[in-house]
Amino acid sequence: MSHFDVVVVGAGPAGCATAIYCAQQGLRVALLEKALFPRHRPGETLHPGVEPLLHQLEVTALDYRRHPGHWVHWDGPPRFNSFGADRDSVWLGFQAPRALLDQQLLERARALGVQIVPVRHARPVVQPQGRVQGVRVGARQWMGKFVVDATGHSSWLQRQLQIPWCRFSPRLIARYGYCQDSSLTEDKLGLFAHPHGWHWITRISHTCLHWTQMAFTEAGQHRLRPKVLEPFKAIGRIRGADVSWRRCHTTAGPGYFLVGDAAATLDPCASHGVIKALMSGMQAAAAIVDCLSWPAGEATVQAAYQAWVQKAVERDVLALRSFYRAHPCPPGWL
Ligand SMILES: Cc1cc2nc3c(=O)[nH]c(=O)nc-3n(C[C@H](O)[C@H](O)[C@H](O)COP(=O)(O)OP(=O)(O)OC[C@H]3O[C@@H](n4cnc5c(N)ncnc54)[C@H](O)[C@@H]3O)c2cc1C
Repeated sequence: MSHFDVVVVGAGPAGCATAIYCAQQGLRVALLEKALFPRHRPGETLHPGVEPLLHQLEVTALDYRRHPGHWVHWDGPPRFNSFGADRDSVWLGFQAPRALLDQQLLERARALGVQIVPVRHARPVVQPQGRVQGVRVGARQWMGKFVVDATGHSSWLQRQLQIPWCRFSPRLIARYGYCQDSSLTEDKLGLFAHPHGWHWITRISHTCLHWTQMAFTEAGQHRLRPKVLEPFKAIGRIRGADVSWRRCHTTAGPGYFLVGDAAATLDPCASHGVIKALMSGMQAAAAIVDCLSWPAGEATVQAAYQAWVQKAVERDVLALRSFYRAHPCPPGWL
């Protein structure tokens, strides 16, 4: 049995941000991950707001492709959504291959002394009184004063503890993939409304495009690759992800926190899943530091974290609803 202050399950941006922030505060952290790194994940387009977060985590954004915004073809003539500018410069977002970014975050955690453990079939260790105390894998146990679920769509702890979801949409599936190209013109890149939903195409490197397609209803789900990409050679297979809008009813409880997509998910049109994952990881880590220095205040600190998650999701749901209402064929379920 190994003892830590914090045991984090899942080493995506949310889990790594939690682990790094906790380790920066001098806590002993174990980070349990089931996949071999580097591994693929969607979510390469990052708002410039990611830069100060990475800076706080002491991670240098590599030489990723930069862009000043993107084209939106939605409820009228195409418009360019720029990220903005200040007196000195235009703000630039990143196209960061997730395998690379996530590997960088993991290496930063390792450099800070976080123990990184490959695991399969993790189960929570729960006290008879209901407090989560650690993680069991076979005969081995990693005990922690707090356990953080950062397993993304796998929602490991939500499933194990059967925490209910608050749902804000019907079941939504995003299909996505990559193709080889260096010639697609700028006017074909960006976010495009179509009668069944929308598609998004972005260039993530000189020779590689990413696309995502989402249908608002089951009827539109036969559409896979955007038509404009049909002439180009696919890289890998088409994948799908459940991107139904949802938030876990309880995102913090006795001995545990949920962060990133494990706490709440919206579809990729909300466009800042990675930033939210980093922010929620750091927010949960700060809450854990507070709980450890003020054990009697744990319920108060956790209620504040929960309210923070809830408010952020409500704000995003309102914004996404209003954006979808302006769609030429808005979904009936709005
Ligand atoms: C098609 C698509 C396009 C997207 N595009 C963008 C975009 O352009 N920009 C953006 O900001 N966001 C985008 N997103 C959202 C973004 O991908 C997620 O919000 C983000 O990855 C969430 O990070 P996370 O750390 O919570 O989870 P993840 O990145 O999913 O990481 C979870 C980790 O947990 C591990 N894990 C899972 N189960 C277990 C287990 N039982 N035990 C141990 N480890 C486990 C996984 O292997 C993984 O490493 C997109 C999403 C989709 C589906």
